[in-house]
Amino acid sequence: MRFSQNKLQKNLFGVIVFVIISLAAIPFNFASVPGEIKVLINGQERNFSPEPVILKGSTLIPMRSFFEALGCEVNWVEETKTAIGVRGDITVEIPIGKNWAFVNGAKKELPVSAQIIKNSTFIPLRFVGESLGDEVNWTPETRTITVQSTKISSTQNLHVHFIDVGQADSIYIQAPNRYDILIDAGNNADGEAVIEYLKEMKVDDIEIMVATHNHEDHIGGLDDVLAAFEVEKIIDSGAEGTTKTYQDYRAAVEAEEASYQEDADLVFNLGPDLNFFIIETGDNYKNVNNNSVLTKLVYKEIEFLFTGDMESDVELTLLDKNIEADILKVGHHGSRTSTSIEFLNKVNPQIAVISVGKDNTYGHPAPEILKRLEDRNIRTYRTDTGGTVVITTDGNTYTVAQPYSSIILRN
Ligand SMILES: [Zn+2]
Repeated sequence: MRFSQNKLQKNLFGVIVFVIISLAAIPFNFASVPGEIKVLINGQERNFSPEPVILKGSTLIPMRSFFEALGCEVNWVEETKTAIGVRGDITVEIPIGKNWAFVNGAKKELPVSAQIIKNSTFIPLRFVGESLGDEVNWTPETRTITVQSTKISSTQNLHVHFIDVGQADSIYIQAPNRYDILIDAGNNADGEAVIEYLKEMKVDDIEIMVATHNHEDHIGGLDDVLAAFEVEKIIDSGAEGTTKTYQDYRAAVEAEEASYQEDADLVFNLGPDLNFFIIETGDNYKNVNNNSVLTKLVYKEIEFLFTGDMESDVELTLLDKNIEADILKVGHHGSRTSTSIEFLNKVNPQIAVISVGKDNTYGHPAPEILKRLEDRNIRTYRTDTGGTVVITTDGNTYTVAQPYSSIILRN
């Protein structure tokens, strides 16, 4: 019981209860310890599906996504039912159902065998990490496994930052090759904070700026950002506003020598296997929220959908569009007027991000929307409870980090 021993020793009563429950409920050699296990790789939380499990005191983790998270090339030999991970000059071969593995050809004993659980191949986490030369630690109090590795390359990573701007939206997409996209910039008063954040991220200029719709909590800070950075392209809904905030935004757009475009079905190729889509949703709705520019970012296998404050009536007109995504920026700060059941089922995300202010007067996010996400096992991250959310992806797997201090800064 390597991983769970310390915790159990501290609490004799717990041990007795655990043993009784184990003996009563589970066949003797499959005593798994229930509860979610958190995995941090180089400080960033990794989500695995299916989730890791503890068997006989060792953590088992989905084979392919764990190897890839550690920067390995993954192979599978069907005849011998063997999983192979290669990183640099180290090769780890793990046959399924055996209590041994090979590291660079040398036979090693396993604490628990690799095995198929719920149709997925699981491998022993600590054995694999340590065989590759990484440091693996277990914190029983928080059920957290940390893997520290100096060998994971981060050069082709893309980061999406849901910047904490209180009751507002601001999303910064930091693509490889210094391609920068900004969607909204919070309220009027948030402009400086967004600029500071972007400067911290070493943003030189902004390739695409999206103003989702003409409410202050979305376009308020954009005039400041336009004054601070050179912006190449600006996309908005084309709807005109009457507020001072809109006029400031519009004046800043006109002062910028940027190409300006109203939303329509568009695609911007940002690099190999990396595309940013503008999805046409119809125009000139009376409800300003419904004019929100809908965008989708696709990096290889990983898809993000950004909905602004779009509400359910427009969502329901989009069900035949290509709106599936792994990560959904929840519409309208989690208001009950967005994230309809049909839309959510169609998008079918694994992760939801809600950009929302603490103790806001709107009651966002609505409890029924949180429940709707929870019922579908969608892991939800909120800026009001955890601050800025940063999702990092190499296009195959992704990590979610909160707070901002743990992300990898670009040089
Ligand atoms: Zn809003």
